[in-house]
Amino acid sequence: MKNLIFFFLLLLGSFTVIGQSLKTENLFIITFDGLRWQELFTGADSALITNKDYVRDGWDLKQLFWSDSPDERRRKLMPFFWGELAKHGQLYGNRKLGNYVDCSNNMWFSYPGYNEILCGFADDQRIKSNNKVNNPNVTLLEYLHNLPAFKGKVAAFCSWDVFPYIINRERSQIPVNAGFESAIGSKLSEREKFLNELQTQIPSPWGGVRLDGFTHHYAMEYVRQNKPKVVYISYGETDDFAHDGKYGAYLRSAHQTDKFIQAWWDYFQQDAHYRGKTTILVTTDHGRGTVPLDTWRSHGTEVAGAGQIWIAALGPDTPPRGEVKEPMQLFQNQVAKTAAALLGLPYTNAKPVGDVIAPVLPK
Ligand SMILES: [Zn+2]
Repeated sequence: MKNLIFFFLLLLGSFTVIGQSLKTENLFIITFDGLRWQELFTGADSALITNKDYVRDGWDLKQLFWSDSPDERRRKLMPFFWGELAKHGQLYGNRKLGNYVDCSNNMWFSYPGYNEILCGFADDQRIKSNNKVNNPNVTLLEYLHNLPAFKGKVAAFCSWDVFPYIINRERSQIPVNAGFESAIGSKLSEREKFLNELQTQIPSPWGGVRLDGFTHHYAMEYVRQNKPKVVYISYGETDDFAHDGKYGAYLRSAHQTDKFIQAWWDYFQQDAHYRGKTTILVTTDHGRGTVPLDTWRSHGTEVAGAGQIWIAALGPDTPPRGEVKEPMQLFQNQVAKTAAALLGLPYTNAKPVGDVIAPVLPK
């Protein structure tokens, strides 16, 4: 009997990291492209929501997203974040409270941001354009995919067509569905076949980015059928609507992406493979400007504030701290190691990676 107990203790030990036992077996990293912390933490911007230069599409944005109270505004814009996630998870990056999250890269645009999130370090020497060049760095996704326990259990779904290069699909062999790619395979569901058809019939406003509804449902179908353990989902509309100067579409997209994340969370709760064993980390690749006003549309090193971001976490191992109000400084390069730690794994790379965000894990 003693031997049996010892055996079980050993078994338990194999699922623990630094002495703690973790429930997370599945991890989803989800990004909004270029969603400002300003909207996440204070809701719609009073300088933009009725500004005729940026709102011309006929939606009653004030009805949809306005309140004089910033707390009420942010709840209207992102009800899942300020309901479920703020109640049971953690949110970092409200600079009004001295809680800072920043890019450690100095580029403040997409490829360098996604490289930093997914690899755990900035690489300003080599990652300095959005060109379709295979990433010389190994992402956390590839690192995990190379471990026997995760082989064939990692996948990525992305609205932007540069992701097959950021994730280096060629080298990593990770299934990536990005840009305007169809679902492929011999066992496509009826929904996947329909999405493939619809995707050719609904013109995207942009050349390299599809509408996020496609990315979301391709991902959902794949996850239902294949039950991967590690999934990266990159929603892209927010950045492109902002570049277009369409504040209404930017807000409506942020609101819809919040609903997509809610749909993931609801799905996890009713699926035995994911229920109680799945953590989500949500973040963004870069911020945007505020002053002068028109810089809300853009980002990059020359735009003040565009390196300011936010991070959120929700899952069975993450203590419910809600909006974290203590002054602190976090960086984008901490997401990868935090994700690995939630899975109970160490994480190193060719370059030093950012530290685990300790409060995301149990004490
Ligand atoms: Zn952009």
